[in-house]
Amino acid sequence: MRAPALAAALLLLSGCAAVGPHAPQAAIAPAAVPKTYQWLQGSGEAAALSRQSYGALTRYVLATVAERAKGGPVEGAVLADGAALRSPAWAACGAKPAAIVLDMDETAILNTGANYDSARRGDPAFDVPRWDAWEQDGASFVDPVPGAVEALAALRAAGVTPIFISNRQARFSGQATQALAAAGLGDASAGRTMFLREAGTSSGKDMRRATVAAQWCVLAMIGDQLGDFSDLFNAKGMDPDTRRKLAELPGVAARWGQGWFLIPNPVYGPGVVGTLEQVFPDHRWPGPQTKETK
Ligand SMILES: [Mg+2]
Repeated sequence: MRAPALAAALLLLSGCAAVGPHAPQAAIAPAAVPKTYQWLQGSGEAAALSRQSYGALTRYVLATVAERAKGGPVEGAVLADGAALRSPAWAACGAKPAAIVLDMDETAILNTGANYDSARRGDPAFDVPRWDAWEQDGASFVDPVPGAVEALAALRAAGVTPIFISNRQARFSGQATQALAAAGLGDASAGRTMFLREAGTSSGKDMRRATVAAQWCVLAMIGDQLGDFSDLFNAKGMDPDTRRKLAELPGVAARWGQGWFLIPNPVYGPGVVGTLEQVFPDHRWPGPQTKETK
């Protein structure tokens, strides 16, 4: 490797034009990595925030399990059937076994290989066949979200079962299981501890959450999008500011860090939308006012 590199350097220094089959290749400018990928996949800040969420979830669930063992009241984390975000009520726990519900993509696992593929191509629009290929073949190119491995180990040791609800496709459930195992997140069993999206069904997760909550005492949920907590956040036609206000309703805000835990994802999803007017509904500073701009 050194000799060709040296020859190329010498050619550059000498200013000679090189031609022919052995001419050094033109240097390829490194592709600009979209900021969102730099942050999600590359930053210590994202790793720290993910660990913050998983650490808080672990402490919350272990404390709740201890309280439950003493006979104290516990609050489930799944919204009760028909409950509204303005006046939330929670699916009853009764004597059901303890569980947590996790989203998969960019919550339990980082799709590092697919994110690399998108980043190097300039973050193109979502491509269904390419994503299908990733679901089928990408299991060895994933990483755990920082903190997930330690959290699941601690919770399983305390008798809490992790249950995955994901919009990965049910026809690729074997590969989804492989991806979780490859990330060090342990076993998942389709229809018992993993609920994927069946062909022809909606991307909403409320029905699957209700199915899980009927059998388990779900003490906490963790996701990278508000839809990982309730479909009510994804009502059709809702503008970003309205959705943001839903996340800040008193009964909802009280759950962040107390049963509902969020993982950062600036790369994709319904949180990454909005026109300039929608994203900045007020406080539109015009910048320094010069004679020309007044
Ligand atoms: Mg996700």
